[in-house]
Amino acid sequence: MNGRFDPLAWVRPEIRRLKAYAVPDREGFTLLDAMENPYSWPADLESAWLSRLKGMSLNRYPDPQAVALKSRIRQVMGVPKDCKLLLGNGSDELIQLMAMAVAGEGRYVLAPEPSFVMYQMISVYTGMSYAGVPLNQDFSLDLAAMREQIEVLNPALIFLAYPNNPTGNCWSREDIETIIELAPGWVVVDEAYAPFAQKSMMDSLSRYRNLLVMRTLSKVGLAGLRLGYMAGAADVIAEIDKLRLPYNINSMTQVSADFALENIEVFDAQADEIRERRGRLIESLNGMDGITAYPSEANFVLFRTPEGQTGRLFSSLLSAGVLIKNLSAPGLLADCLRVTVGSEADQQKFLTALKQAL
Ligand SMILES: *Cc1c(COP(=O)(O)O)cnc(C)c1O
Repeated sequence: MNGRFDPLAWVRPEIRRLKAYAVPDREGFTLLDAMENPYSWPADLESAWLSRLKGMSLNRYPDPQAVALKSRIRQVMGVPKDCKLLLGNGSDELIQLMAMAVAGEGRYVLAPEPSFVMYQMISVYTGMSYAGVPLNQDFSLDLAAMREQIEVLNPALIFLAYPNNPTGNCWSREDIETIIELAPGWVVVDEAYAPFAQKSMMDSLSRYRNLLVMRTLSKVGLAGLRLGYMAGAADVIAEIDKLRLPYNINSMTQVSADFALENIEVFDAQADEIRERRGRLIESLNGMDGITAYPSEANFVLFRTPEGQTGRLFSSLLSAGVLIKNLSAPGLLADCLRVTVGSEADQQKFLTALKQAL
């Protein structure tokens, strides 16, 4: 293979510079790295689901508007009547669709930092500029800095994860409302962890035309289905919807998610257990010498280790078969690791391994 032209020369320079989103090999590990729900379905639920799938016509395209599933989501999630819904192949796809809708030379995405990494990555994919505004030392929003960046950059999109990943806290409603009122562009409140926080900005949608509230089924036990959804003003959602590929939500996901939401009480009960275990996880971590675990309203806990230890502790845990996330980087996350709230057995295994490693 020896052409005259280098095919890679056509790739946009900012894409050449990117490192692909890396997912480690997870086979055989106790998985506490990706905020998955540790539970599978009760046997009777699983067989009811399988018989629902049996009636499907996979030779046909899915319902492009996912009418049945949308109406279920409205009913279960309390979406205001005057708002429209948009479904995505995970909320990642929704982030991408919004960015595509507003992208252009010199247009900015703004988000507090540290926060969910896809906000920045998708800015790069869509040719937008990205600015991160550091959180305060206690992980609260630096409202003065946000205000200044909003004035200087005139951002098209602001992402606020509520609760925030990876810090686990919820920002104050007043701060969020201030930002929505200051913002010239769209403000996306990303409620991926809503079932664990039991807080939401959904009820503010009718008051703000520039607010979009986004959620996902990934963290409540359905990560494999890939379903995110977003509610917002009808005319704004209609514009974003033009960019959606016609059949982005496949038939299996539509049927399975509808079935799961019909049985939402099963998932709510699991979220209750996870919240309860989260409290004990934080206590156990804070009982260890040199460890500071931060309060969390999500299904993970961020904790700080003694200086310069995260690499060693992460590897030790790996050798013990436990995969968590090493977030340590200069700045607010120096010496920080993040662990998902798993099953009771997973949690014991993690705590034992960490104690030994320390
Ligand atoms: C995990 C996560 C998501 C991912 O959502 P998918 O629906 O799985 O694409 C979105 N936002 C935040 C803040 C997350 O932590």
